[in-house]
Amino acid sequence: MNKLEEKAVSLLQSGVKLILGYEKGDKGARPFFCHTPEDASKLIYDEHATTNLATYILKPELMGHDKVAVCATLRTLRAIAQLASENQIKEENLIVFTITEEGNGDVKEFSGIDEINSYLTDKELEVAQLYKELDEKLSGMSREEKWSFWVNEFSRCIKCYACRAACPLCYCTRCITDVNRPQWIDPWPSPMGNMEWQINRVMHMVGRCIGCGACTKACPVGIPIGYLSRKMLNDLSEEFGYIPGQAMKDGNSLSTFKPEDKENFIH
Ligand code: SF4
Ligand code: SF4
Repeated sequence: MNKLEEKAVSLLQSGVKLILGYEKGDKGARPFFCHTPEDASKLIYDEHATTNLATYILKPELMGHDKVAVCATLRTLRAIAQLASENQIKEENLIVFTITEEGNGDVKEFSGIDEINSYLTDKELEVAQLYKELDEKLSGMSREEKWSFWVNEFSRCIKCYACRAACPLCYCTRCITDVNRPQWIDPWPSPMGNMEWQINRVMHMVGRCIGCGACTKACPVGIPIGYLSRKMLNDLSEEFGYIPGQAMKDGNSLSTFKPEDKENFIH
C-alpha cells in the first residue's frame, strides 16, 4: 500500500464519506470519487493530475453535509484558498491533503485554510509554454493588432461554456450569460456576443483567477482564454502587489480602493 492509499483508507475508515482525487484515465489522470477503502488503490497523483478538483467542492449534490477529503494539487490548493477568502468553504466539512514535492510522495494534511495559505507562500505558479509563446507574439503587436488578434480568436468560440464549467472560481448559481430577462449577452455564437461573453468572463475573474489554466485546457476549439486571466494576474501583481494564487488580505482588488490609489490607467 503506498502512502496515498494508506491515507485514503484511514480517512474513509474514520468517517470521511468521499475522497476527491485522481485515477488513471485513457488520457492521463482524471478525477476520481473514491467512496470505499477497496477503491483507494485506484488513487494516483502525478504530473498529469491537472483537473482542478476545487471545482467540485461547491457542488451541493457531491458535498452534502458529509465530511469530504480532497487530494489537492498546487492548483487545487490555490483555488481552495481563494474560495475560502470569498467565504465559500465550509471548513468543518472539508479535509485537505496534498502529496509534498519535497518528500517523495509524503502525505501532508492541512490543519485549515491558514496552513494552506502559508504552504502556498513560496510556491511559484508554473507558466505554460503556450502562454510564454503568446507573450512573445503579443508583445511585438500594436494595440490595434492585439485587438484584431483577440477578435479573431473569440470569433471561434462556440459558446459551449466548458471554460466556465472547468473553472473553480466560476460558481454563480445563475451566470449572467444565462439570464434572458433582460438578455444581456447573446446566448448563441456571434461576433458581438462572443466578445461580450469573454470580456465579462475575464473581468469577473480579475483578482480571483488563480492561474490554473483549466479554462484553456477545457476549450474544445483551442482559444487560449486563460492567457487573458493570467495577464490580469500579472498586471494586478505590478499595480497592487497581488500575489497570484494567494488571497488578497485587503479584499478583492476591483471592489476595494484607497484614496491614494494611482489613476494613471484612466486614459
Ligand atoms: S485559469 Fe481559468 S479556470 Fe483557472 S481560475 Fe483562472 S479563469 Fe478559472
Ligand atoms: S470553452 Fe472555448 S468555445 Fe466553449 S465557451 Fe469557453 S471559450 Fe467558447
